[in-house]
Amino acid sequence: MCYIWINSPVFKIKTMKKSKILFLGGLVFLFLTSFSYDVSEVYICKGPQSKKYHYKKDCRGLSSCSTDTYSVTLSEAKKLGRTLCGWED
Ligand SMILES: [Zn+2]
Repeated sequence: MCYIWINSPVFKIKTMKKSKILFLGGLVFLFLTSFSYDVSEVYICKGPQSKKYHYKKDCRGLSSCSTDTYSVTLSEAKKLGRTLCGWED
């Protein structure tokens, strides 16, 4: 009984997750293309001193950036070890 109880829901969750991720990905894509400002997209500087991410492209923290600024998703910025810029609200 335990075996069936453990295994069948796991299979269901796995298949659900895949479609959910695709669904959310589509939603995020639609959201990003309809709005120019979105907290899930952040800006980073790729200079050697840069360890922060920024919500606004014209943030004070980015004004001293020595390279171009790049827009990435918030999760990507966190994966790169970035933390929120001190100038942000
Ligand atoms: Zn900033």
